[in-house]
Amino acid sequence: MLARLVQMPSITGHELAIQDFLSSELAGLGLQIDRWCPSRDELATHPAFSDDGLPLGTRPVIAARWRGSLKGARSLILNAHVDVVPVGDERAWSDGGPWSGAYRDGCVWGRGSCDMKGGLVAAMTAIRVLQNDGAKPRGDVTLQCVIGEESGGAGTLAAVMRGYHADAAIVLEPTRLAICPVGAGAASFRLHIPGRAAHGAMRNEGVSSIEKFYLIADALARFERDRQSTFSHAFFAPGQLVAPLSIGKIAAGDWPSTVPDSLIAEGRYGILPGENMADARTLFEQTVSEAAKSDGWLREHPPTVEWFEGQFEPAATPPDSPIIAALGKAHKKVLGSDPKIQGVSYGSDLRFFTNNANMHAVLYGPGDVRLAHSVDERVPVEEVIHCAEVLSNLIQEW
Ligand SMILES: [Zn+2]
Repeated sequence: MLARLVQMPSITGHELAIQDFLSSELAGLGLQIDRWCPSRDELATHPAFSDDGLPLGTRPVIAARWRGSLKGARSLILNAHVDVVPVGDERAWSDGGPWSGAYRDGCVWGRGSCDMKGGLVAAMTAIRVLQNDGAKPRGDVTLQCVIGEESGGAGTLAAVMRGYHADAAIVLEPTRLAICPVGAGAASFRLHIPGRAAHGAMRNEGVSSIEKFYLIADALARFERDRQSTFSHAFFAPGQLVAPLSIGKIAAGDWPSTVPDSLIAEGRYGILPGENMADARTLFEQTVSEAAKSDGWLREHPPTVEWFEGQFEPAATPPDSPIIAALGKAHKKVLGSDPKIQGVSYGSDLRFFTNNANMHAVLYGPGDVRLAHSVDERVPVEEVIHCAEVLSNLIQEW
């Protein structure tokens, strides 16, 4: 099953074929299928919608419900995104290329194997195994197969907006079977830094926006360090860079011998767990304007900050949440030792459950996130099987 799913190139925006396949597989498991195509008009009414500009309307989301026998019993959502990121240069991949789904060295290889079709197959297997044993859950178990995670999370947001809610959710991201109840957020920013043009031969007549940028960039680097040094959290290792501030793109000037009169820099600003997005943005803007005040030119011609595209809030489930205890117990039963509990510095669909659906949720799944999005992505089959065992134990306990 995992190999077949990897062989379907479900790059974000092109999820229809894999969702057709999964609809019939999940219906074959006796699950009740709710399948719909979210629209942009509908999603845009939600403040958490992050518009990636990709077409919508032909990209179905699936919620497959295994109906519980007891009304009011504890329910569970298992969430997996079916979309994958592009593969880069196909020639860089070893034997078989990015869509092989080959089984080698104990792993299934190919784009999406680790992020996160391995987790999806673990959930399907857990349900199938319990059904073969004649088990029936007391509360609803709903497997969500969502689209668009890699570019902002349209699918999970659509499921939240459709009213899906449970007593807990597990997002099956590759965590090497660590329980991750906390994730940092990120906000994309665009800085405009003004200068004044002059002939480069008389550069003192002008003001270089590039030189002024250094000043702001230094202030932002200090800001990142200060934020990090005052942050501590039980789920992050001491010294771990939890909320990186990284500038990814710079454009300035239009001629080699002209002093550049404007600079635009774009980057991502990490939002700390527990931090409010609006407050975090204000701190950033204050840092830029404080730095500008220390400079004669920038004081008169202040830089501006724009927030655009990806705005991902941080997510957190409390450490004493019942789902952490129950999942930890199921993990220990299968693997013989307590799982690691840790936070992650990247954004994921976790935030829609914790922030928008008012639920407890964790990331938990097979595979190493460092192999996600990389060449020769793969997932150890043993970890997928362990994850399936843990999930089936969890469903019984829960
Ligand atoms: Zn993922």
